[in-house]
Amino acid sequence: MNRYLEIEEWSIVEKGFDPARQRASESIFSLGNGRMGQRANFEESYSGDSLQGSYIGGIYYPDKTKVGWWKNGYPEYFAKIINSVNWIGIDIWVNDEKLDLAKCSISDFERTLNMKEGYLQREFTAALKNGNKVHVKATRFISMARYEVGAIAYSVKALNFEGAVTFEPYLDADVTNEDANYDERFWLGVDKKAYNNSGWVISKTKKTNFHICAGMHCEFLRNKQSFKVDSEINVDGQFISHRYNIAVKKNDNITLHKYAVISSSFNHKRKRLQPHVEQQLKKIAHAGFEQLLDEQADYWAGKWEQSDILIEGDEAAQQAIRFNIFQLYQTYTGDDERLNIGPKGFTGEKYGGVTYWDTEAYCLPFYLCTAGQNVARNLLLYRYKHLPKAIENAQKLGFTDGAALYPMVTITGEECHNEWEITFEEIHRNGIIAFAIYNYIRHTGDNDYLTEAGLEVLIGIARFWAQRFNFSNERGKYVMLGVTGPNEYENNVNNNWYTSYIGVWSMRYAISCINKMQEKAPEAFKNIQSKTDFNLKETQKWQAIIDEVYLPHDEKRDIFLQQDGYLDKEQRFAEDLPDEIRPLNQHWSWDRILRSCFIKQGDVVQGLYIFEHKFDEETIRRNFDFYELRTVHESSLSPCIHSILASKLGYSDRAYELYLRTARLDLDDYNKEVHQGLHITSMAGTWMTIVEGFAGKRIKNGTLSFSPSLPEKWRSYSFKMLHRKSLLKITVESDTVTIKCEKGNQVNCLIYGEKYSIKSGEMVGADLKSR
Ligand code: BGC
Repeated sequence: MNRYLEIEEWSIVEKGFDPARQRASESIFSLGNGRMGQRANFEESYSGDSLQGSYIGGIYYPDKTKVGWWKNGYPEYFAKIINSVNWIGIDIWVNDEKLDLAKCSISDFERTLNMKEGYLQREFTAALKNGNKVHVKATRFISMARYEVGAIAYSVKALNFEGAVTFEPYLDADVTNEDANYDERFWLGVDKKAYNNSGWVISKTKKTNFHICAGMHCEFLRNKQSFKVDSEINVDGQFISHRYNIAVKKNDNITLHKYAVISSSFNHKRKRLQPHVEQQLKKIAHAGFEQLLDEQADYWAGKWEQSDILIEGDEAAQQAIRFNIFQLYQTYTGDDERLNIGPKGFTGEKYGGVTYWDTEAYCLPFYLCTAGQNVARNLLLYRYKHLPKAIENAQKLGFTDGAALYPMVTITGEECHNEWEITFEEIHRNGIIAFAIYNYIRHTGDNDYLTEAGLEVLIGIARFWAQRFNFSNERGKYVMLGVTGPNEYENNVNNNWYTSYIGVWSMRYAISCINKMQEKAPEAFKNIQSKTDFNLKETQKWQAIIDEVYLPHDEKRDIFLQQDGYLDKEQRFAEDLPDEIRPLNQHWSWDRILRSCFIKQGDVVQGLYIFEHKFDEETIRRNFDFYELRTVHESSLSPCIHSILASKLGYSDRAYELYLRTARLDLDDYNKEVHQGLHITSMAGTWMTIVEGFAGKRIKNGTLSFSPSLPEKWRSYSFKMLHRKSLLKITVESDTVTIKCEKGNQVNCLIYGEKYSIKSGEMVGADLKSR
C-alpha cells in the first residue's frame, strides 16, 4: 500500500507536488464523461515525466501487431483508442520565463478531484528563476451534460512583480502514443484556422480515417472583470494558438476561460464537423464557465441521487466507493450502445481502451442495478452485433459451422490480442458472454431478449464449446486441453475446472433456452433456426458432453482442482511471500511464476462466485479456504470476488480487508501500477463487494434477496438500486435492515429468506443478523 492522498468523503486531495508521483496522479485525477476522457496532465508546459492522454470513445487506430514469433491465427493489428488532440494546453510565461513545474520552486500545491460536482482543481504558488512569484488556480471539467465539451478556468496572480504574463492557449493534434508498436504517428493534419480568440484543428487517423475537429474559444478576466486582449496567432502543422501578452500590476489576477469542443466523425458527417464545432463554441461561450459548471454539478447531483453509497463511520471506505462510482460513470454512461468499457477507461494507454470479458463479468451487474435495464441491454447488444465477427474469429482458428469465439480484446468485434496463451487459450471469456445473458434476464425478466438477439449468441457459443471439448478414450470422458483459466499465472493447462464448468454450463443454458422458445415462441424459434442454420440434432452432442464431462476434483481435500496437476506444484501460501517481492509479476521471471502455485486472480473461486447458486455453502467454504491462501490478487479483478465470498462465508475481517484492497486499489496503489491508468472495470467489482458482499444481494429463483451484514468498523451503510423499474433504498444499521421502495411498482423480496412485499413509497424492516 502506498497512500499519499488525503482522505475526504467527497474529494480526492493531493497536497504538495512530488514529480515522482506525477503519472500516478495523472491517472487518479482523470476526468471523463463517458464519451471522452483526459488524464490529469497540467495545462501549462511540463518538462518532467508525464503521460499525455486525451481519449475519445470509438476513435481507434489498428496498430500493427508486434510479436517475436508469429503464430498463425494472430490478429494483424491491435485496435486501440489512441491519444488524441491536446485541448487543455495553455503555456504561460512570466516576464518571458516559461512556467514549468519541473523548473521552478513550488509551494502550497494542492490538487483536488471534486467528485460531488465533477471537476478538477489545482492550485500552487511558483517562484520562477527570475524571482517572480505567481499563484495559479486551474479548474477544469469535461461536461457530462454536453458530451463534446470541456472547459478550463486558468488564473494567474502576480504576487510580487509587475510586468507581463503571457498566456498561450492552444490545440495540438500532433500527438503520439507511448505504446505505439512501431513508433508510428497515427494522426494526419487535415485543416486548421485561428481567428478572433477562437480556432479549430481538424485531423484524421490514418487507415481508419476518423476525423476529429477540436475547437477552442478564449476569454479573459482581470480581477474578475472581463476585458479584451489582442492575440498573436500561431498556426503551424496540426497546431494553432493565440498568444496573449498581458500587462499586470502586483496582485493582479488574470483568468483565462478556455472553452473547447471536440467532435468526431464517429458522431457527425465529416463535412459538418467544423460548422458544428463553431456553433457549439458560440453556445458554450455564451453560456459561460459558471453556468457550464453549474450544469455539471446538477448532472452529478442526479447521478449521486440514484447511485451513491453512503458509509458512516469509515471515511477511507466512503471516499473509495465514491471514487469507484465516479470513475465508472466518467467512463461509461450507457447513452451510446456503440461504446463499451475499457479496463482502464480513458485514463491511460494500457489495454488500449477496448473491451474485455471484464464488461460482462464485472460491469454488467453494476450498470444493471444503477443505470437500468436499457443500459445493460445495450451492453449485451454490443456483443450481439459482434456475433458475425466472433464466428469469423472461430473460423480463423479452425472451428466450423457457426461456432463463435468472442475475442479476448476487441473494439470492432475482431480479435486484437496477440499472445497465443491468451488469444487462443483464454477462452473462458466465451462463457461469461453467455452467462451475462442469463444474468440480465434473471434480473429483468426480459425474456424477449432471447428472441431478439440472445439465443443466436448462445447457439454460436454452445457450438464453439461442443467443438472445443474432445473425447478422451483414456478417461472415457470429455476433456478440455490447452487452456488458460482466469488465473493467467498458469498457461496451456489441461482441464481447467472453471473453463470446463462454464463451457458445459453455456451448453446447458442454450439447450434450456431452445426448449423454452420452441414451446413458447415456435415461430420466433424457426426464424432463429433458419438465421443460424441450426439443427436440433446439434444439441445431442452438447448433451453428451454435459453428461460425460471431466471436471477435475481432488478426493482427499474434496475440492475442485484448478487444473490437472495443480497439486503437484510446491504448495505455499501467499501470506508467506515478503513484501519486497510483491507483486510477483514485477519481481519473478515468468518461468518461475508459471511453475509456482500462486494464483493471480480467482479461478475456481471465480467459478464459485458466478455459479454460487449451484453449490452448497460447505463446498464453497472448502474451496475458498484452500485457494484464497494461494492467491496473490495481482489482478485488480481478484479482491472483490474474494471479498464477496468471504462475506457470504462469514469471514467478515477478510471481507473488509479485501473490500479496502479493491476499493482503494488505485488510491493506495496496492499493485504499484496506477501510473499506467486506473482499474476501471474492477471498480464495478468494488460496488459488488458492498451490494452483493456486505448486503448479500442475490436473485434467488427470480426473487430479489438480501442477507446483510455490517462491517465492524461501519456504523451504517445505505445504497440505492434499480430492480425491474423500481428504485429501492437499502439501509443497514447496527441492528436493523430497512428497504424502501422509493419509486416504481411494488417489489417482492427476501430478507434473510423471509418474504416481504414493498409498495411504492413504503418501507419494510428486519433485525440485522450476524453471519
Ligand atoms: C486480467 C484479465 C483482465 C485484464 C483486463 C488482466 O490482468 O488477468 O482477467 O481481463 O487484466 O482487466
